[in-house]
Amino acid sequence: VIEIRGLHKAYGSLEVLKGVDMRARKGEVISLIGSSGSGKSTLLRCANLLEDSQQGEILFSGEAVKWKGEASHRRPADARQVLRIRTNLSMVFQQFNLWAHMTILQNVMEAPVTVLRRDRAEVEAAARVYLDKVGIGDKAEAYPAQLSGGQQQRAAIARALAMEPEALLFDEPTSALDPELEQEVVKVIKALAEEGRTMILVTHDMRMARDVSDHILFLHQGLVEEEGAPAEMFGAPRSERLRSFLSHSG
Ligand code: ATP
Ligand code: MG
Repeated sequence: VIEIRGLHKAYGSLEVLKGVDMRARKGEVISLIGSSGSGKSTLLRCANLLEDSQQGEILFSGEAVKWKGEASHRRPADARQVLRIRTNLSMVFQQFNLWAHMTILQNVMEAPVTVLRRDRAEVEAAARVYLDKVGIGDKAEAYPAQLSGGQQQRAAIARALAMEPEALLFDEPTSALDPELEQEVVKVIKALAEEGRTMILVTHDMRMARDVSDHILFLHQGLVEEEGAPAEMFGAPRSERLRSFLSHSG
């Protein structure tokens, strides 16, 4: 579904990604781990074309992103391609980012109705199914402030699902939550993994990474330092850096 080859990304003179490869095939769950500042969020944002980059290829279902401008200022050339890719890669953020003035149901319906121009009644029916699926069907008419953090994050997941995307991208979906609320979100993510959804997950939660991933990338200073299946990565880390990282992250 997504393939990234040799991606370079800098903010001014700060090189954040220094030639990263990442691939998520249909039905795969890929986790990105690594210490703070290693470039995990930047890689996810680049995949979703929320960030420009300097070098490297991004392919979506085999279709290469077209760029314009010089390498130092390149940006996507085709607005329709960007929209198509972005609506097919729904992102879930650490801070939920729900619209405070809309009910939970309206939050879930907003993008399918306004961006995809789908029929409102069909979108509403689907939205209610997704809210049930994440276990907050009874909160459809509530406002975000009336929900716990875990419920808000599950609403954000329902909102991402309502776009019926090819893949879901999660950036630390549980790290703003109290431990007891974290588990309800982990449960939803596990269920989505078992359904065969394609997902890319940035997380500090090593247990979740081990439980849900098909493949894990360990980033260190803008490079993939080590990658592999969860059993290899956690059971027999090859690099000293990964060993040290794992020993400090519980
Ligand atoms: P964390 O675990 O703390 O979320 P991360 O691995 O997600 O870290 P990134 O957010 O990708 O790290 O950041 C990588 C580097 O890029 C950091 O050094 C950060 O300071 C820098 N950076 C990120 N966003 C910007 C920005 N908008 N402008 C300038 N520098 C940035
Ligand atoms: Mg981050």
